[in-house]
Amino acid sequence: MRQKKFMLSEDMIPQKWYNIQADMPVKPMPMLDPQTKKPVTVEDLSGLFCRECSRQELNQTDRWIDIPEEVRQRYANYRCTPLVRAYGLEEALGTPAHIYFKNESVSPIGSHKLNSALAQAYYCKQEGVTNVTTETGAGQWGAALSYAAKVFGLEAAVYQVKISYEQKPYRKSIMQVFGALVTPSPSMSTRAGKDILTRTPNHQGSLGTAISEAVELARMTPGCKYTLGSVMNHVTLHQTVIGLEAEKQMELAGEYPDIVIGCFGGGSNFGGIAFPFMRHNFSGERNTRFIAAEPASCPKLTKGRFEYDFGDEAGYTPLLPMFTLGHDFQPSNIHAGGLRYHGAGTIVSQLLKDGYMDAVDFEQKETFEAGCTFARTEGIIPAPESCHAIAAAIREALECKETGQKKTILFCLSGHGLIDMAAYDQYLAGNIH
Ligand SMILES: *Cc1c(COP(=O)(O)O)cnc(C)c1O
Repeated sequence: MRQKKFMLSEDMIPQKWYNIQADMPVKPMPMLDPQTKKPVTVEDLSGLFCRECSRQELNQTDRWIDIPEEVRQRYANYRCTPLVRAYGLEEALGTPAHIYFKNESVSPIGSHKLNSALAQAYYCKQEGVTNVTTETGAGQWGAALSYAAKVFGLEAAVYQVKISYEQKPYRKSIMQVFGALVTPSPSMSTRAGKDILTRTPNHQGSLGTAISEAVELARMTPGCKYTLGSVMNHVTLHQTVIGLEAEKQMELAGEYPDIVIGCFGGGSNFGGIAFPFMRHNFSGERNTRFIAAEPASCPKLTKGRFEYDFGDEAGYTPLLPMFTLGHDFQPSNIHAGGLRYHGAGTIVSQLLKDGYMDAVDFEQKETFEAGCTFARTEGIIPAPESCHAIAAAIREALECKETGQKKTILFCLSGHGLIDMAAYDQYLAGNIH
């Protein structure tokens, strides 16, 4: 029987995360304090984030960072995740390419987000924090943080983008099962929310508005820290468990990827799968191509500008050097809520600028077509976000079919779509164009 899944046992869960900043030929430019225009320090960041995450954020020297044993133990609930050869998809496409996916949808909350939520909640607990707050788009990050907070005995308050709160009611219920307080954003519970609603009474919310509200709550509440599920360097650092495992699993499969693909919201699952492989490009041993797949309606990598911008709508975060559509950009209400963010993480932005990776964008319809092809051949209904990675993998595989090249393609299946069936209903009804 041909081998379908490449598995690693629990004791193979990585001991360290990979900090790509240490190896980058050109380091990311510093984040700036918006008032003083001086580079932010660990001290500045730790007003908002927990101290250890603030350190990791600015760490440009340590290539490997220890994963705390308590976090590895929680990872063991679902890691190592499977690496799967997508024979069904290959056959349906008639491609000579070999397609593999790293299945992060098997985590208890259904996406890769838990990899960082557990780490952040653990550090907060260690540092004596009692409450955590955050924003969430589709609800994946909010669900992950709510669960991780419960695991480590913290209270969680989550601002969910209003459109997602309404379109994806079960994510709210999941967060509430884990004991979190969930508020649709923009809300009247913060000054930032009130300002936004006064200017635009029917505001549907965006990650930017929800970030502003969560940041304000963290600033106003003693013992409360803010957490983020994407964009920041420390988040992507935690996600490198994906690529580090995948690297070992590709070895078990006797292959090395020519192309590595991730969908792109703020860059954490993309960086998570890509960076461990990219280190071999830096050293000249390999020449892998890295592709970030984003929605055509929120194309910060393909159409944005590289400049200093705020991470949130109200301008509370430091200024970040990144590819951005502008912090006041209003993305349309696509179903891939996790990809509706105006900017890209600073590491990925620098790597794209320096030509170490590529970006492509897709219309929503093509991503659902790809998602359905994948579901019908591999039996997993992918998250609308993940459908972008699948669309990119299919495009590459079809190009291999044209040219007869037998490339090895690896993509990250960042999550499943079982709580996103309303989106699939709309696609099947022909309402997505
Ligand atoms: C949040 C999310 C994304 C996008 O975030 P990144 O930080 O870019 O990875 C992608 N897929 C799923 C399933 C998500 O929940």
